Amino acid sequence: MKTNQFTMQDPRSQYQMGKTEKDGEQPDPGLDEILDPKADHGENTYEGSNRLKGRKALITGGDSGIGRAVAIAFAREGADVVINYLASEETDAKDTLDILKASGSDAWGIAGDVSDEEFCNSLVRHSVEKLGAIDILVNNAGKQQFVADLEDLTTEQFCQTYATNVFGMFWITKAAVKHMPPGASIINTTSIQSYQPSAGLLDYASTKGAITSFTKSLAKMVIDKGIRVNGVAPGPIWTPLQQSGGQPAEKLPKFGENVPIGRPGQPAELAPVYVYLASQESSYVTAEIMGVTGGQHLP
Ligand code: NAD
Ligand code: MG
Repeated sequence: MKTNQFTMQDPRSQYQMGKTEKDGEQPDPGLDEILDPKADHGENTYEGSNRLKGRKALITGGDSGIGRAVAIAFAREGADVVINYLASEETDAKDTLDILKASGSDAWGIAGDVSDEEFCNSLVRHSVEKLGAIDILVNNAGKQQFVADLEDLTTEQFCQTYATNVFGMFWITKAAVKHMPPGASIINTTSIQSYQPSAGLLDYASTKGAITSFTKSLAKMVIDKGIRVNGVAPGPIWTPLQQSGGQPAEKLPKFGENVPIGRPGQPAELAPVYVYLASQESSYVTAEIMGVTGGQHLP
């Protein structure tokens, strides 16, 4: 029998990653193409039911990981999608775009660096040219590099993490809101790190704290335009971000095993929450952060 995202099963054994090796490493930014073991983005399971029919979505970091799973789910729910990614991630972007098109979506890729304000403005401009409007904005691009000692955390890394995770979100959102009609939805990817910051992720965790506050403040600011703003806080999710310096190599084999469900999450397990927040089903939900943490809950 074909399984889909609705198939009832024990969440602890839904993915068997605990028994496989996950200690490979790769350069930053990581690629799904060489992620070992592979992640599940819902390619073979996510079934849509027109929950986003006709919507126009821009997703940053949409080539891989959580962004890829969200893009696939949006496409199968009937949305047209632009994904943004870094030029070095062209192979992942192409794979994702092929899946989106095969799902019946009009889909485009726009490469570029969200830590550059000029690029953020042009990303929104080109997205509007392709899509006609922006009904859904997912600010999901993120940089995470583990540094154990404060001494070793450089100004360059600190600034680049903030520019990517926080400033890029601000620049893209500011440009996009002008093109968003009432009923539109903004979804920011924050993190459990916003609430339970780890030593070694000082720059990253504090950007996620900023994203959480930005989300709640922006929600109150733009509800006068009929736009809702929410965040998703993932726990430990198996993506290239972790294998490319997001975690120290020695922690990778046990990555995600300390949460109550006892395993890392897969990108596919995030997508339904983004679909819910994007769609009109969540009409009374704004300024909210939804945790998808394997039980390592938000406060
Ligand atoms: P990922 O590596 O697949 O995705 C991150 C994406 O960010 C990359 O694909 C890349 O395209 C994009 N990116 C990075 N720097 C960029 C830049 N300067 N310009 C443009 N794009 C850039 O990993 P992921 O885990 O799916 O990450 C997606 C989001 O989820 C990130 O915001 C991350 O912080 C967040 N998150 C991940 C986890 C986890 O455990 N994997 C947990 C909590 C939050
Ligand atoms: Mg990527």
